[in-house]
Amino acid sequence: MGSNPAVDLYDTELTFRGVPTWKLHLIRLMFRSILPRLVAHGETLGLLTLRIPILGKLLVRYIGPFPYFCGGTSIEDCEGTVKRLHQRGIRSILDYSAEGLKNEAGFDVTRDEVLHALRHASSSSDEPFGVFKITGVGDKDLLEKVSSGAALTANERAAFDRTVARVRQICATAAEDRLRVLIDAEESWIQKAIDDIAEEMMAEFNREQAIIYTTVQMYRVDRLDYLQRLYERGVSGGFIPGVKLVRGAYMEAERARAAATGQPDPIHATKEATDAAFDAAVAFCIEHIDRIALVAGTHNEASVAKLLDQMSRRGLTPGDPRVECSQLLGMSDNLSRALAEHGYNTSKYVPYGPLETAIPYLVRRAQENSSVAGQTDRELRLVTTELARRRGAK
Ligand SMILES: Cc1cc2nc3c(=O)[nH]c(=O)nc-3n(C[C@H](O)[C@H](O)[C@H](O)COP(=O)(O)OP(=O)(O)OC[C@H]3O[C@@H](n4cnc5c(N)ncnc54)[C@H](O)[C@@H]3O)c2cc1C
Repeated sequence: MGSNPAVDLYDTELTFRGVPTWKLHLIRLMFRSILPRLVAHGETLGLLTLRIPILGKLLVRYIGPFPYFCGGTSIEDCEGTVKRLHQRGIRSILDYSAEGLKNEAGFDVTRDEVLHALRHASSSSDEPFGVFKITGVGDKDLLEKVSSGAALTANERAAFDRTVARVRQICATAAEDRLRVLIDAEESWIQKAIDDIAEEMMAEFNREQAIIYTTVQMYRVDRLDYLQRLYERGVSGGFIPGVKLVRGAYMEAERARAAATGQPDPIHATKEATDAAFDAAVAFCIEHIDRIALVAGTHNEASVAKLLDQMSRRGLTPGDPRVECSQLLGMSDNLSRALAEHGYNTSKYVPYGPLETAIPYLVRRAQENSSVAGQTDRELRLVTTELARRRGAK
């Protein structure tokens, strides 16, 4: 048995240590009133940033929720956020969140930005991973066609080869610097192509340690089986899979598409079933940690508590380099701060990008994702508890 310390994941005093009370009131106002309206009227904000550039940019950049959820408009702009997180023992994963042009030139621009972020991360002890989405460097329709198994035309084959080449360039650069890189997961109808590319990269670059990490969405009914097969292919193929486990962000789109096409719903029927699958996947990874590396990307306290318990039972120290826990900037600081305080490898995704493209992109993601509402409740509960605690402490 290990002897990991008991971690209080609900310690709001620690969560908000150093945050003045007036700011807590502002945060509460933001989650209670401003954020729901912004999600509802996101297009207006997007328009504002485009049509009235100076006013819009000032508003977006310095007021309201965006400084809370985004690191800045460029890597250099994120340095304040990276430093602030560092002071709390939390590392940063700079996530280029803008939507580039969906053509070959746009894919090259996104690849170059990801490479720029990787070089930045290599020279910093505060940035343990790079991250990117394959739809940033390749055409989504093409990924769908490849995933479906349909034959490609010569032009499509050439475009797909260019997509794989961009991914390989990113992965090779990361491997040269021994910097780990996460490949995000997306919608199920393009995920087969993404999985295959990610696995090809893992087989190539993860011979001694996990450098390339794929993402496994545990809201999908087939993913526990997939994870186990991936592990077995790692054992037989002589590579160490890196996996970021998440629940999954595209539930509404997945259900809508399944209903429209008459296909079976690929998502677990209930939240409880998704929770159980996520926890089972975490348990599987910890059990097989000698030949798999794990990033748990979650805001769910019960899942994090189970992860810590499993690490302890398996005799892993909190700082074991094969296990990382990660949250999004501005969310679940109770988890990030408590984990970091006890020596667990903890990081935050820090989205960044030019306002004109990053803001509409992030608002759209929030609108499409019903888990945002649940997260808002979580954040409101934390800040309200802390305000009550401070009132009582006076
Ligand atoms: C660091 C990090 C990286 C991420 N990367 C990705 C990524 O690459 N790809 C991606 O898709 N997502 C990604 N996400 C988002 C993630 O998939 C979740 O949407 C989000 O974190 C909320 O889930 P949770 O584990 O925090 O827990 P909770 O808030 O407890 O769970 C909410 C999630 O449960 C699932 N769920 C909710 N209701 C139901 C229901 N009725 N039936 C079945 N399932 C349900 C959904 O997946 C929902 O998002 C990432 C999240 C983090 C923190």
